[in-house]
Amino acid sequence: MAVKKIVTYPAEILEKQCEPVTVFDKKLSKLLNNMYDTMIEYDGVGLAAPQIGVNKQIAIVDIDDETGPIELINPEIMETSGEQSGPEGCLSFPGLYGEVTRPYFVKVKAQDRKGKSFIIEAEDFLARAIQHEIDHLHGVLFISKITRYLEEDELEGLEVE
Ligand SMILES: [Zn+2]
Repeated sequence: MAVKKIVTYPAEILEKQCEPVTVFDKKLSKLLNNMYDTMIEYDGVGLAAPQIGVNKQIAIVDIDDETGPIELINPEIMETSGEQSGPEGCLSFPGLYGEVTRPYFVKVKAQDRKGKSFIIEAEDFLARAIQHEIDHLHGVLFISKITRYLEEDELEGLEVE
């Protein structure tokens, strides 16, 4: 188990375009395992590599539903539809929450830790978490999408990404 330190805002790496992954080796698996341990430790529902200081297109999402953990390497959004608005938080912005509007549905193409391509479709909160993490890989932070900041007492069991 290796819990990494979370990079918090402001930090240059959080606003950079991440590099695509080209080598799918043991090092990548270890990084993904560390990301998972870190996300669990900090009670997040997702984590992107730049949040632990790695400038690579790697993200994980686990909203604790029947889908289980999702590993997204070099993810690309292929399709979106609909709209949802809801509260969001981010492990890189401790204590900051805001309402963010995103598509309700998303279809994403990505690779797994072995380099195998797959397509995942998600809706509602899972789609929100996936889009939040993919944004991280392009240096896009949720604060740029917040329409209204929320106070802690407006939040009920909100999870952070
Ligand atoms: Zn985040």
